[in-house]
Amino acid sequence: MTSNGERIAVVGVGYVGATTAACMAELGHDVGVFDIDPAKVDAIASGRAPIFEAGLDELVARHTTSRRLRASMDLNEIVSSAAFVFLCVPTPSGPDGSADLTYLEEASRMVGPLLMPGAVVINKSTVPVGSTQVVASQLNRDDVEVASNPEFLREGTAVRDFMAPDRVVIGSDRAEVATRVAALYESLGDIDFVHTDPASAELIKYASNAYLATRLSFINAVAEVCEALGGDISEVARGIGLDSRIGPEFLNPGPGWGGSCFPKDTRAMVAMADQAGFDFRFLRGVIESNEQQFELIAQRALEMAGVAPTDARIAVLGLAFKAGTDDVRNSPAVEIANRLVAAGATVTAHDPQSSAAVSGVVQFGSAINAAAHAHLLLVLTEWPEYSDLDPEALGAVMTNRAVLDTRDVIDARGFAAHGFAVRQVGRGLRTNPTT
Ligand code: NAD
Repeated sequence: MTSNGERIAVVGVGYVGATTAACMAELGHDVGVFDIDPAKVDAIASGRAPIFEAGLDELVARHTTSRRLRASMDLNEIVSSAAFVFLCVPTPSGPDGSADLTYLEEASRMVGPLLMPGAVVINKSTVPVGSTQVVASQLNRDDVEVASNPEFLREGTAVRDFMAPDRVVIGSDRAEVATRVAALYESLGDIDFVHTDPASAELIKYASNAYLATRLSFINAVAEVCEALGGDISEVARGIGLDSRIGPEFLNPGPGWGGSCFPKDTRAMVAMADQAGFDFRFLRGVIESNEQQFELIAQRALEMAGVAPTDARIAVLGLAFKAGTDDVRNSPAVEIANRLVAAGATVTAHDPQSSAAVSGVVQFGSAINAAAHAHLLLVLTEWPEYSDLDPEALGAVMTNRAVLDTRDVIDARGFAAHGFAVRQVGRGLRTNPTT
């Protein structure tokens, strides 16, 4: 143990685990990490973040140097001396939409025999009600504790979210265990803790993601009503968000929601409710309306290209599911690109961070190269650099001057002034520089 820190193990160092490990080291703890992926362990061992996330590289470098953060492929070395073991492994969608607990069960079986008596295993993965018990039974130890501590960080701002959380939720039936877990976060200062039972902790995570997805689907639907009736969604959203009962966050319309969490977590919540005998029709509707949004954007893009779908050349700007991350898992951009490819269009793409392969899409290192000969620019991720795109340079290499900006990020007036037909979600078509 360091002077004021605890010995912590982190099992699984993807987006959540790497951030948890580096931030726990920053909070003064002595952290060891393990992952079944040697590339992730190697990255941390050599002082680099295993994923692209603002500020994470610096923290990993600082604490591999301070020796408060180390990585090893030897699970025993990492776990056997740890008083707390965070499980941060994937919980993907199973075939029926419910959370697949295979990784969690496997990780629990692996760490079980190695734990020191009295250790607390803390589940940070997003898991359905009952999973604390699943972990306990896979550990197969009666001298250790299990607690739920769901994570709410957002990719792109993960370090900041971890270090300044809106709340820390701890689910345990034993007050003493909850207090020990809460103490790990003590040096964050004055933060809100929710100490609750494991089932409520697990539901807080799912309900939060389901609600955020709902808000996005709601504002996307209102944006369509604006388009149909002539309103401007940015004005409407601002007016709604000023109501203190509503608030301004998560009211930006877009191409549909996605990413590694919302799609699987909404499906898992529906499946969990189903299994308990409640038909969560409302959330099913939210999921369906998100599919409708992908389809609507793909159809609008094909229309704006102005030629038959099989002749259309569409340049997609942004593949990551949001700015600030290289993560393309369930990205709306990829969903929409897939639909365009399926319709027979030729799709090129640029993303400043992600070069993950997308079937049928040719990727370029710059927006201008992706745009060459295109009938339409289709902006799908809100990368800040897209606000500086040069409309004249792009128009000069394109076949047709048209842009569909689903993230309200480009300089719409500038594009219109250079002869582009400009369309943004919830605002209708702009062809005149003065509008
Ligand atoms: P990820 O895929 O980025 O990382 C998971 C890591 O676990 C991988 O590196 C994988 O190799 C490793 N792993 C799998 N099985 C293992 C085992 N038996 N032992 C050791 N390592 C193992 O996933 P993530 O995005 O970090 O998500 C992890 C969990 O956290 C999920 O349940 C997710 O829903 C939840 N979550 C994610 C986010 C997010 O923004 N990504 C936010 C909050 C919660």
